[in-house]
Amino acid sequence: MTDLLTNFHTILQRIQVCEQKYHRTTGSVSLLAVSKTHAPTLIATLHDAGQQSFAENYLQEALVKISALQEKRLIWHYIGPIQSNKAKEIAQNFSWVQTVCRLKEAKLLSQYRAFNESPLNICIQIKLDDNPKKSGISLEEAPTLVDSLQSMPHLKLRGLMTIPPLVEDFERQREYYREVCNLFTTLNAYGAQLDTLSMGMTHDFEAAIAEGATIIRIGTGLFGPR
Ligand SMILES: *Cc1c(COP(=O)(O)O)cnc(C)c1O
Repeated sequence: MTDLLTNFHTILQRIQVCEQKYHRTTGSVSLLAVSKTHAPTLIATLHDAGQQSFAENYLQEALVKISALQEKRLIWHYIGPIQSNKAKEIAQNFSWVQTVCRLKEAKLLSQYRAFNESPLNICIQIKLDDNPKKSGISLEEAPTLVDSLQSMPHLKLRGLMTIPPLVEDFERQREYYREVCNLFTTLNAYGAQLDTLSMGMTHDFEAAIAEGATIIRIGTGLFGPR
């Protein structure tokens, strides 16, 4: 527990340092705690220390935690793959879905979200290599999906999310993130009104902040190894 809180304050501190170093507005980068595989008690501890937003990859595991922590009013993000037969539960139990990459699944999410007054916040997941095993759509295909999502009544398209290929070199990390940020800027220049760039994980979030991330998704850096 003490480690968790120490890690939490260290990450917040590093975010602040990066914001200054890369001339980002203070408070423009927010921390999303990736709590997959970790117990509800740890999530509660972090929430009591001031963390509001949490992310999960596996639906069944997430539903157990969401229900266990109902009173706490956490903001839950879904960051796992979307299967059509899970779309209903995803749309009805989360505030955000960051892994949309197909029109078909977006339509299902919108349809099932209809019961709720607030639209589901959406990020489109961008893939930066052509590995068929990885999810996401290419930079080239994204604008068409952006157009389609903007007319869906129960979705609110907030921005882009990415998991770049794993590289050690800081400048290489920045190059990947810069590609996504350039697309974000272009889409907004054409009127998309996006406000979210979800990019950066434990090993590379500083490069992501340097390139404009507004949400960094941290698991290991907070909770330790899975
Ligand atoms: C697990 C996961 C993270 C967190 O990764 P860490 O390296 O543990 O910080 C971030 N984003 C996604 C999509 C994940 O699946």
